[in-house]
Amino acid sequence: MDQKALIGIGSNLGSPVENCRKAVASLCESEEINVIKQSSLYESEPIGKKNQPWFVNAVIEIQTSLSPERLLKKLLNIEQQFGRTRNEKWGPRIIDLDILDYDGRIINSESLTLPHPEMLNRRFVLEPLSEISGSTIHPVQNKSIQSLLNELPKNPVVKKISIS
Ligand code: ATP
Ligand code: CA
Ligand code: CA
Repeated sequence: MDQKALIGIGSNLGSPVENCRKAVASLCESEEINVIKQSSLYESEPIGKKNQPWFVNAVIEIQTSLSPERLLKKLLNIEQQFGRTRNEKWGPRIIDLDILDYDGRIINSESLTLPHPEMLNRRFVLEPLSEISGSTIHPVQNKSIQSLLNELPKNPVVKKISIS
C-alpha cells in the first residue's frame, strides 16, 4: 500500500451526492486501496456541454498497491457497476472516477495520461484538492495545487455543499 494517488469523483445523474458517497464506499471495500483523505462535496456548473444538471464533485487521497493501469481498470469497473454508459464527450454521467495523480508519475500511454491533463483547468478539481492536498506539487508544472488554484478564474462556479 505504499503508492499515494489522488482520485477525482463526479456525478450529475440520479442522486449525485449519494453516487459520490457510494463510489468512495466501493473504493474502501477494495483490499488494494486505503482511503486516507476525503474532501467535502462540491457542486459545480457543467463545463463544455452547458445544457445538463450541475455536478457534485469530490476528491480523495488513497494509498494503493495497484499499479496505475490496474487502478484505472478498478475505477472503470466501479463506473460500470454503477451503470455508466459513455455517450457524448463531457455529457451527463452517473459516476466519473479519474486518476488525477499517481505518486507524481508522468505517464502518456494510450489508455492513461498522468497527471490528469485537464486538472489544471478545472476549479471543480483544484478546489476540493486544495482542501486535502494543497501543498502537493504538480509534477509537470512544478507548482503547488494551491498556487494553480489561485491562477484559475472564478467561473465556472464551484460551491462547497454544507451538508457533507
Ligand atoms: P476527462 O478525461 O476530460 O475528464 P471523461 O472523464 O469524461 O473526460 P471518460 O469517458 O470518463 O472521460 O474516459 C475516457 C478514457 O480516458 C478512459 O477510458 C481512460 O482510458 C482514459 N484516461 C486517460 N487518462 C486517464 C486518467 N488519468 N484517469 C481516468 N481515465 C483516463
Ligand atoms: Ca473526468
Ligand atoms: Ca473519466
